[in-house]
Amino acid sequence: MIIGGGAAGFFSAINIANKKPNAQIMILEKSDKLLYKVQISGGGRCNVTHSCFEPMQLIKNYPRGEKNLINIFHRFQPKDTIAWFAERGVQIKTEADGRMFPITDSSQSIIDCFMKEAKKNHIDIHINTAVDSLQKTKNDKWRITTSKGDTIVADKVVVCTGSHLRTWKALEELGHQVESPVASLFTFNTKDTRLRDMMGISLHHVQLSIASTKLKSEGPLLITHWGLSGPAILKLSAWGARELASMQYKFVLRINFTGLQTAEEVKNEILSIKNTNPKKQISNTILFHMPTRFYESMLLYSKIDTTKKWADFSSKEINILTELFFNSTLDIHGKSTNKDEFVTCGGISLKEIDFKTMQSKLHSNLFFAGEIMDIDAITGGFNFQAAWSTAWVVSESV
Ligand SMILES: Cc1cc2nc3c(=O)[nH]c(=O)nc-3n(C[C@H](O)[C@H](O)[C@H](O)COP(=O)(O)OP(=O)(O)OC[C@H]3O[C@@H](n4cnc5c(N)ncnc54)[C@H](O)[C@@H]3O)c2cc1C
Repeated sequence: MIIGGGAAGFFSAINIANKKPNAQIMILEKSDKLLYKVQISGGGRCNVTHSCFEPMQLIKNYPRGEKNLINIFHRFQPKDTIAWFAERGVQIKTEADGRMFPITDSSQSIIDCFMKEAKKNHIDIHINTAVDSLQKTKNDKWRITTSKGDTIVADKVVVCTGSHLRTWKALEELGHQVESPVASLFTFNTKDTRLRDMMGISLHHVQLSIASTKLKSEGPLLITHWGLSGPAILKLSAWGARELASMQYKFVLRINFTGLQTAEEVKNEILSIKNTNPKKQISNTILFHMPTRFYESMLLYSKIDTTKKWADFSSKEINILTELFFNSTLDIHGKSTNKDEFVTCGGISLKEIDFKTMQSKLHSNLFFAGEIMDIDAITGGFNFQAAWSTAWVVSESV
Protein backbone atom coordinates (compact mmCIF):
# COMPACT_ATOMS: atom_id res chain seq x y z
CA MET A 1 0.00 0.00 0.00
CA ILE A 2 1.44 3.33 -1.08
CA ILE A 3 -0.17 6.32 0.61
CA GLY A 4 0.14 9.45 -1.55
CA GLY A 5 0.16 9.73 -5.35
CA GLY A 6 3.03 12.21 -5.65
CA ALA A 7 6.66 11.92 -6.76
CA ALA A 8 7.80 9.58 -3.96
CA GLY A 9 4.60 7.49 -4.11
CA PHE A 10 4.84 6.77 -7.85
CA PHE A 11 8.60 6.17 -7.74
CA SER A 12 8.16 3.70 -4.87
CA ALA A 13 5.25 1.90 -6.51
CA ILE A 14 6.85 1.51 -9.95
CA ASN A 15 10.18 0.31 -8.56
CA ILE A 16 8.53 -2.17 -6.21
CA ALA A 17 6.56 -3.51 -9.19
CA ASN A 18 9.74 -3.74 -11.30
CA LYS A 19 11.49 -5.76 -8.58
CA LYS A 20 8.53 -7.89 -7.57
CA PRO A 21 6.24 -8.25 -10.60
CA ASN A 22 3.64 -10.34 -8.78
CA ALA A 23 3.16 -7.92 -5.90
CA GLN A 24 -0.29 -6.37 -5.58
CA ILE A 25 0.38 -2.64 -5.34
CA MET A 26 -2.16 0.05 -4.57
CA ILE A 27 -1.73 3.86 -4.47
CA LEU A 28 -4.25 5.89 -2.47
CA GLU A 29 -4.33 9.61 -3.27
CA LYS A 30 -6.49 12.02 -1.28
CA SER A 31 -6.98 14.65 -3.98
CA ASP A 32 -8.42 14.30 -7.46
CA LYS A 33 -5.00 15.00 -9.03
CA LEU A 34 -2.08 12.62 -9.27
CA LEU A 35 1.46 14.02 -9.32
CA TYR A 36 0.20 17.57 -8.89
CA LYS A 37 3.47 18.98 -7.52
CA VAL A 38 5.44 17.30 -10.30
CA GLN A 39 3.15 19.06 -12.76
CA ILE A 40 3.68 22.56 -11.35
CA SER A 41 7.33 22.04 -10.39
CA GLY A 42 10.14 24.06 -11.94
CA GLY A 43 7.66 26.49 -13.49
CA GLY A 44 5.97 23.59 -15.32
CA ARG A 45 9.31 22.19 -16.56
CA CYS A 46 10.09 19.92 -13.57
CA ASN A 47 13.63 20.34 -12.30
CA VAL A 48 14.06 16.56 -11.92
CA THR A 49 17.53 16.49 -10.38
CA HIS A 50 20.89 18.28 -10.29
CA SER A 51 24.10 17.46 -12.11
CA CYS A 52 26.04 16.64 -8.96
CA PHE A 53 27.33 13.09 -8.97
CA GLU A 54 29.43 12.89 -5.80
CA PRO A 55 27.32 11.86 -2.78
CA MET A 56 29.60 13.84 -0.45
CA GLN A 57 29.01 16.98 -2.54
CA LEU A 58 25.33 16.25 -3.05
CA ILE A 59 24.49 16.06 0.64
CA LYS A 60 25.78 19.61 1.16
CA ASN A 61 22.54 20.82 -0.43
CA TYR A 62 20.35 19.38 2.33
CA PRO A 63 19.98 21.52 5.46
CA ARG A 64 17.94 18.69 6.95
CA GLY A 65 18.86 15.09 6.18
CA GLU A 66 22.47 15.75 5.20
CA LYS A 67 24.09 12.89 7.14
CA ASN A 68 21.25 10.39 6.67
CA LEU A 69 21.35 10.74 2.91
CA ILE A 70 25.01 9.75 2.36
CA ASN A 71 24.35 6.03 2.09
CA ILE A 72 21.07 6.57 0.29
CA PHE A 73 22.91 8.57 -2.43
CA HIS A 74 25.57 5.86 -2.68
CA ARG A 75 22.71 3.56 -3.69
CA PHE A 76 20.69 5.89 -5.91
CA GLN A 77 21.96 9.29 -7.02
CA PRO A 78 21.37 11.78 -9.90
CA LYS A 79 23.27 9.54 -12.38
CA ASP A 80 20.79 6.75 -11.58
CA THR A 81 17.84 9.14 -11.93
CA ILE A 82 19.02 10.14 -15.41
CA ALA A 83 19.52 6.47 -16.39
CA TRP A 84 16.14 5.46 -14.91
CA PHE A 85 14.26 8.02 -16.99
CA ALA A 86 16.39 7.37 -20.12
CA GLU A 87 15.53 3.64 -19.93
CA ARG A 88 11.89 4.69 -20.03
CA GLY A 89 12.29 7.11 -22.94
CA VAL A 90 12.67 10.42 -21.05
CA GLN A 91 15.92 12.24 -21.89
CA ILE A 92 17.20 14.74 -19.31
CA LYS A 93 19.29 17.83 -20.12
CA THR A 94 21.56 19.98 -17.94
CA GLU A 95 21.36 23.78 -17.73
CA ALA A 96 24.34 26.06 -17.12
CA ASP A 97 23.67 26.25 -13.36
CA GLY A 98 23.49 22.44 -13.00
CA ARG A 99 19.70 22.09 -12.84
CA MET A 100 18.37 19.18 -14.91
CA PHE A 101 15.07 19.08 -16.83
CA PRO A 102 13.40 16.77 -19.34
CA ILE A 103 14.53 17.82 -22.84
CA THR A 104 10.91 18.59 -23.67
CA ASP A 105 10.98 21.35 -20.99
CA SER A 106 7.66 19.96 -19.80
CA SER A 107 6.78 18.23 -16.54
CA GLN A 108 4.14 16.33 -18.54
CA SER A 109 6.95 14.07 -19.88
CA ILE A 110 7.64 12.89 -16.31
CA ILE A 111 3.93 12.46 -15.56
CA ASP A 112 3.33 10.53 -18.82
CA CYS A 113 6.29 8.27 -18.03
CA PHE A 114 4.98 7.50 -14.53
CA MET A 115 1.40 6.92 -15.73
CA LYS A 116 2.59 4.59 -18.50
CA GLU A 117 4.79 2.61 -16.07
CA ALA A 118 2.00 2.40 -13.50
CA LYS A 119 -0.40 1.05 -16.13
CA LYS A 120 2.16 -1.42 -17.49
CA ASN A 121 2.78 -2.74 -13.97
CA HIS A 122 -0.94 -2.99 -13.08
CA ILE A 123 -0.66 -0.60 -10.15
CA ASP A 124 -4.10 -0.04 -8.71
CA ILE A 125 -4.62 3.72 -8.25
CA HIS A 126 -7.45 5.36 -6.32
CA ILE A 127 -7.91 9.14 -6.29
CA ASN A 128 -10.18 11.08 -3.90
CA THR A 129 -9.22 8.54 -1.25
CA ALA A 130 -7.44 9.85 1.83
CA VAL A 131 -5.98 7.54 4.43
CA ASP A 132 -7.48 8.52 7.77
CA SER A 133 -5.85 6.02 10.10
CA LEU A 134 -3.34 3.21 10.28
CA GLN A 135 -3.56 0.34 12.75
CA LYS A 136 -1.21 -2.56 13.26
CA THR A 137 -2.86 -6.01 13.10
CA LYS A 138 -1.86 -8.92 15.32
CA ASN A 139 0.07 -10.56 12.49
CA ASP A 140 2.22 -7.49 11.77
CA LYS A 141 0.15 -6.22 8.86
CA TRP A 142 -1.54 -2.81 8.59
CA ARG A 143 -5.25 -2.01 8.66
CA ILE A 144 -5.91 1.20 6.72
CA THR A 145 -9.11 3.20 7.03
CA THR A 146 -9.91 5.56 4.17
CA SER A 147 -12.03 8.69 3.90
CA LYS A 148 -14.53 6.59 1.95
CA GLY A 149 -15.02 4.42 5.01
CA ASP A 150 -13.24 1.40 3.50
CA THR A 151 -10.85 -0.78 5.45
CA ILE A 152 -7.93 -2.32 3.62
CA VAL A 153 -5.34 -4.69 5.06
CA ALA A 154 -1.82 -4.43 3.63
CA ASP A 155 1.37 -6.43 4.24
CA LYS A 156 3.53 -3.37 3.87
CA VAL A 157 2.74 0.34 3.90
CA VAL A 158 4.85 3.11 2.33
CA VAL A 159 3.87 6.57 3.54
CA CYS A 160 4.60 9.19 0.85
CA THR A 161 2.16 11.93 1.79
CA GLY A 162 4.59 14.88 1.62
CA SER A 163 4.17 17.64 4.19
CA HIS A 164 0.70 16.79 5.40
CA LEU A 165 -0.48 17.64 8.90
CA ARG A 166 -3.20 14.99 9.17
CA THR A 167 -0.86 12.15 8.23
CA TRP A 168 1.78 13.44 10.63
CA LYS A 169 -0.86 13.38 13.35
CA ALA A 170 -1.83 9.79 12.48
CA LEU A 171 1.85 8.83 12.71
CA GLU A 172 2.23 10.66 16.03
CA GLU A 173 -0.58 8.48 17.32
CA LEU A 174 1.60 5.50 16.38
CA GLY A 175 4.40 6.92 18.52
CA HIS A 176 6.41 8.74 15.85
CA GLN A 177 7.83 12.16 16.60
CA VAL A 178 7.23 14.99 14.13
CA GLU A 179 9.70 17.89 13.90
CA SER A 180 7.41 20.91 13.80
CA PRO A 181 6.94 22.27 10.28
CA VAL A 182 8.23 25.71 9.29
CA ALA A 183 8.75 27.27 5.86
CA SER A 184 11.96 26.86 3.90
CA LEU A 185 13.03 28.43 0.56
CA PHE A 186 11.51 31.87 0.95
CA THR A 187 12.50 35.42 -0.02
CA PHE A 188 13.17 38.28 2.41
CA ASN A 189 10.93 41.37 2.75
CA THR A 190 12.35 44.80 3.48
CA LYS A 191 11.04 48.35 3.34
CA ASP A 192 14.52 49.82 3.02
CA THR A 193 14.25 52.88 0.79
CA ARG A 194 17.63 52.16 -0.83
CA LEU A 195 16.05 49.36 -2.85
CA ARG A 196 13.00 51.33 -3.86
CA ASP A 197 13.77 51.85 -7.54
CA MET A 198 16.03 48.88 -8.00
CA MET A 199 13.49 46.13 -8.69
CA GLY A 200 14.77 43.61 -11.24
CA ILE A 201 18.47 44.33 -10.66
CA SER A 202 20.61 41.27 -10.04
CA LEU A 203 24.13 41.05 -8.66
CA HIS A 204 26.13 38.04 -9.74
CA HIS A 205 27.95 37.34 -6.48
CA VAL A 206 27.28 38.66 -2.98
CA GLN A 207 28.08 37.34 0.48
CA LEU A 208 25.33 37.41 3.08
CA SER A 209 25.24 36.91 6.82
CA ILE A 210 22.63 37.42 9.51
CA ALA A 211 23.59 39.51 12.53
CA SER A 212 23.77 37.63 15.87
CA THR A 213 23.74 34.23 14.16
CA LYS A 214 26.24 31.99 12.36
CA LEU A 215 24.09 31.95 9.22
CA LYS A 216 25.95 32.78 6.00
CA SER A 217 25.58 32.22 2.27
CA GLU A 218 26.85 33.51 -1.03
CA GLY A 219 25.81 33.60 -4.68
CA PRO A 220 23.61 35.66 -7.00
CA LEU A 221 21.16 38.18 -5.49
CA LEU A 222 17.98 39.55 -7.05
CA ILE A 223 16.22 42.73 -5.93
CA THR A 224 12.45 42.30 -6.05
CA HIS A 225 9.39 44.45 -5.49
CA TRP A 226 9.25 43.48 -1.81
CA GLY A 227 12.88 42.87 -0.99
CA LEU A 228 15.50 40.30 -1.86
CA SER A 229 15.52 36.98 -3.65
CA GLY A 230 17.90 34.89 -5.78
CA PRO A 231 20.01 31.81 -4.95
CA ALA A 232 21.99 33.46 -2.10
CA ILE A 233 18.77 34.40 -0.26
CA LEU A 234 17.00 31.08 -0.90
CA LYS A 235 20.02 29.15 0.41
CA LEU A 236 20.09 31.30 3.54
CA SER A 237 16.34 30.77 4.06
CA ALA A 238 16.76 26.99 3.81
CA TRP A 239 19.77 26.72 6.14
CA GLY A 240 18.24 29.21 8.56
CA ALA A 241 14.64 27.93 8.33
CA ARG A 242 14.26 27.15 12.05
CA GLU A 243 16.37 29.99 13.43
CA LEU A 244 14.66 32.61 11.25
CA ALA A 245 11.22 31.28 12.20
CA SER A 246 12.16 31.66 15.87
CA MET A 247 13.17 35.29 15.11
CA GLN A 248 9.74 35.74 13.47
CA TYR A 249 11.56 36.68 10.29
CA LYS A 250 12.80 39.98 11.79
CA PHE A 251 16.58 40.36 11.62
CA VAL A 252 19.49 42.38 10.28
CA LEU A 253 20.99 41.14 7.02
CA ARG A 254 24.61 42.04 6.26
CA ILE A 255 25.60 42.20 2.61
CA ASN A 256 29.03 42.26 1.02
CA PHE A 257 28.39 43.33 -2.58
CA THR A 258 32.02 43.10 -3.69
CA GLY A 259 32.76 39.39 -3.97
CA LEU A 260 36.01 40.05 -2.01
CA GLN A 261 36.75 38.39 1.31
CA THR A 262 38.01 41.17 3.61
CA ALA A 263 37.46 44.90 4.17
CA GLU A 264 41.20 45.35 3.59
CA GLU A 265 40.96 43.83 0.09
CA VAL A 266 37.95 46.02 -0.71
CA LYS A 267 39.73 49.15 0.46
CA ASN A 268 42.87 48.26 -1.56
CA GLU A 269 40.75 47.70 -4.67
CA ILE A 270 39.09 51.13 -4.23
CA LEU A 271 42.47 52.76 -3.64
CA SER A 272 43.88 51.17 -6.78
CA ILE A 273 40.92 52.52 -8.81
CA LYS A 274 41.50 55.94 -7.25
CA ASN A 275 45.21 55.86 -8.16
CA THR A 276 44.69 54.70 -11.75
CA ASN A 277 41.76 57.05 -12.46
CA PRO A 278 42.56 60.25 -10.53
CA LYS A 279 40.84 62.56 -13.03
CA LYS A 280 37.68 60.51 -13.47
CA GLN A 281 34.45 61.18 -11.61
CA ILE A 282 33.52 58.43 -9.17
CA SER A 283 30.17 57.91 -10.90
CA ASN A 284 32.00 57.14 -14.16
CA THR A 285 34.15 54.38 -12.68
CA ILE A 286 31.91 51.56 -11.66
CA LEU A 287 33.35 49.51 -8.84
CA PHE A 288 33.17 45.72 -8.52
CA HIS A 289 31.39 45.25 -11.88
CA MET A 290 28.09 46.37 -10.36
CA PRO A 291 25.05 47.19 -12.51
CA THR A 292 25.21 50.95 -13.22
CA ARG A 293 21.76 51.73 -11.77
CA PHE A 294 22.59 49.91 -8.56
CA TYR A 295 26.01 51.58 -8.21
CA GLU A 296 24.55 55.05 -8.74
CA SER A 297 21.74 54.47 -6.23
CA MET A 298 24.20 53.26 -3.60
CA LEU A 299 26.38 56.34 -4.08
CA LEU A 300 23.34 58.58 -3.84
CA TYR A 301 22.31 56.87 -0.60
CA SER A 302 25.78 57.34 0.90
CA LYS A 303 25.48 61.11 0.17
CA ILE A 304 28.89 61.09 -1.51
CA ASP A 305 29.29 63.83 -4.09
CA THR A 306 29.20 61.77 -7.29
CA THR A 307 30.64 64.60 -9.43
CA LYS A 308 33.84 64.55 -7.41
CA LYS A 309 37.04 63.23 -9.02
CA TRP A 310 38.83 60.24 -7.49
CA ALA A 311 41.93 62.36 -6.74
CA ASP A 312 39.86 64.50 -4.37
CA PHE A 313 38.66 61.62 -2.23
CA SER A 314 39.81 61.71 1.37
CA SER A 315 40.74 58.54 3.24
CA LYS A 316 37.60 59.05 5.36
CA GLU A 317 35.50 58.90 2.19
CA ILE A 318 37.37 55.79 1.02
CA ASN A 319 36.43 54.18 4.35
CA ILE A 320 32.76 55.17 3.81
CA LEU A 321 32.82 53.54 0.36
CA THR A 322 34.47 50.41 1.77
CA GLU A 323 31.77 50.09 4.43
CA LEU A 324 29.03 50.82 1.90
CA PHE A 325 29.98 48.00 -0.45
CA PHE A 326 31.53 45.52 2.00
CA ASN A 327 29.24 45.76 4.99
CA SER A 328 25.80 47.13 4.15
CA THR A 329 23.01 46.24 6.53
CA LEU A 330 19.30 45.91 5.79
CA ASP A 331 16.43 45.43 8.23
CA ILE A 332 14.34 42.43 7.18
CA HIS A 333 10.69 42.29 8.20
CA GLY A 334 9.00 39.12 7.06
CA LYS A 335 9.19 36.66 4.18
CA SER A 336 7.43 35.87 0.90
CA THR A 337 6.98 32.64 -1.03
CA ASN A 338 9.43 32.05 -3.84
CA LYS A 339 7.33 31.72 -7.04
CA ASP A 340 4.85 29.45 -5.19
CA GLU A 341 7.69 26.96 -4.60
CA PHE A 342 7.07 26.29 -0.95
CA VAL A 343 9.07 23.56 0.71
CA THR A 344 8.59 22.58 4.32
CA CYS A 345 11.32 22.03 6.86
CA GLY A 346 10.05 19.48 9.39
CA GLY A 347 8.42 16.08 9.32
CA ILE A 348 8.96 12.60 10.74
CA SER A 349 12.02 12.65 12.95
CA LEU A 350 14.98 11.05 11.18
CA LYS A 351 16.09 9.37 14.42
CA GLU A 352 13.15 7.01 14.08
CA ILE A 353 13.91 5.80 10.55
CA ASP A 354 16.40 3.09 9.60
CA PHE A 355 18.09 4.62 6.57
CA LYS A 356 19.38 1.24 5.36
CA THR A 357 15.79 0.24 4.61
CA MET A 358 13.70 3.42 5.04
CA GLN A 359 11.64 1.41 7.51
CA SER A 360 10.28 2.84 10.75
CA LYS A 361 12.41 1.88 13.75
CA LEU A 362 9.22 1.74 15.81
CA HIS A 363 7.07 -0.45 13.56
CA SER A 364 7.91 -3.18 11.07
CA ASN A 365 6.41 -3.05 7.56
CA LEU A 366 6.01 0.73 7.75
CA PHE A 367 8.24 2.68 5.31
CA PHE A 368 8.74 6.35 4.44
CA ALA A 369 9.80 8.17 1.26
CA GLY A 370 9.93 11.83 0.19
CA GLU A 371 8.99 15.03 1.95
CA ILE A 372 7.02 13.40 4.79
CA MET A 373 10.36 13.09 6.60
CA ASP A 374 12.36 15.92 8.12
CA ILE A 375 14.43 16.18 4.90
CA ASP A 376 14.54 19.19 2.62
CA ALA A 377 16.97 20.83 0.26
CA ILE A 378 17.86 24.11 -1.32
CA THR A 379 16.34 24.85 -4.73
CA GLY A 380 17.84 23.17 -7.83
CA GLY A 381 16.29 19.70 -8.21
CA PHE A 382 17.57 18.36 -4.88
CA ASN A 383 14.13 17.93 -3.30
CA PHE A 384 12.99 15.59 -6.08
CA GLN A 385 16.31 13.73 -5.92
CA ALA A 386 15.66 13.01 -2.23
CA ALA A 387 12.20 11.71 -3.17
CA TRP A 388 13.59 9.43 -5.94
CA SER A 389 16.47 8.12 -3.80
CA THR A 390 14.47 7.39 -0.65
CA ALA A 391 11.72 5.77 -2.77
CA TRP A 392 14.33 3.62 -4.54
CA VAL A 393 15.68 2.35 -1.23
CA VAL A 394 12.11 1.67 -0.06
CA SER A 395 11.55 -0.43 -3.20
CA GLU A 396 14.70 -2.48 -2.52
CA SER A 397 13.73 -3.25 1.08
CA VAL A 398 10.02 -3.86 0.40
C1 LIG B 1 5.46 25.02 -6.81
C2 LIG B 1 6.51 24.02 -6.44
C3 LIG B 1 7.56 23.80 -7.33
C4 LIG B 1 8.55 22.88 -7.00
N1 LIG B 1 9.54 22.67 -7.92
C5 LIG B 1 10.50 21.75 -7.64
C6 LIG B 1 11.50 21.43 -8.61
O1 LIG B 1 11.47 21.92 -9.75
N2 LIG B 1 12.48 20.55 -8.24
C7 LIG B 1 12.51 19.96 -7.00
O2 LIG B 1 13.42 19.16 -6.74
N3 LIG B 1 11.53 20.20 -6.09
C8 LIG B 1 10.54 21.06 -6.39
N4 LIG B 1 9.56 21.29 -5.46
C9 LIG B 1 9.52 20.44 -4.25
C10 LIG B 1 8.94 19.07 -4.67
O3 LIG B 1 7.75 19.26 -5.39
C11 LIG B 1 8.66 18.19 -3.43
O4 LIG B 1 9.85 18.05 -2.68
C12 LIG B 1 8.17 16.81 -3.88
O5 LIG B 1 6.97 16.93 -4.60
C13 LIG B 1 7.93 15.88 -2.67
O6 LIG B 1 7.37 14.69 -3.15
P1 LIG B 1 6.46 13.79 -2.22
O7 LIG B 1 5.95 12.68 -3.08
O8 LIG B 1 7.18 13.45 -0.99
O9 LIG B 1 5.25 14.71 -1.77
P2 LIG B 1 4.09 15.37 -2.66
O10 LIG B 1 4.57 15.64 -4.04
O11 LIG B 1 3.56 16.49 -1.85
O12 LIG B 1 3.00 14.20 -2.76
C14 LIG B 1 2.26 13.77 -1.64
C15 LIG B 1 0.91 13.29 -2.11
O13 LIG B 1 0.25 12.64 -1.02
C16 LIG B 1 -1.11 13.03 -1.01
N5 LIG B 1 -1.61 12.83 0.37
C17 LIG B 1 -1.34 13.57 1.47
N6 LIG B 1 -1.97 13.04 2.54
C18 LIG B 1 -2.63 11.95 2.12
C19 LIG B 1 -3.46 10.98 2.77
N7 LIG B 1 -3.69 11.04 4.08
N8 LIG B 1 -3.99 9.99 2.04
C20 LIG B 1 -3.76 9.89 0.69
N9 LIG B 1 -2.97 10.80 0.04
C21 LIG B 1 -2.42 11.80 0.74
C22 LIG B 1 -1.06 14.48 -1.45
O14 LIG B 1 -2.32 14.90 -1.95
C23 LIG B 1 0.01 14.42 -2.54
O15 LIG B 1 -0.54 14.12 -3.81
C24 LIG B 1 8.54 22.19 -5.77
C25 LIG B 1 7.49 22.43 -4.86
C26 LIG B 1 6.48 23.31 -5.19
C27 LIG B 1 5.35 23.53 -4.24
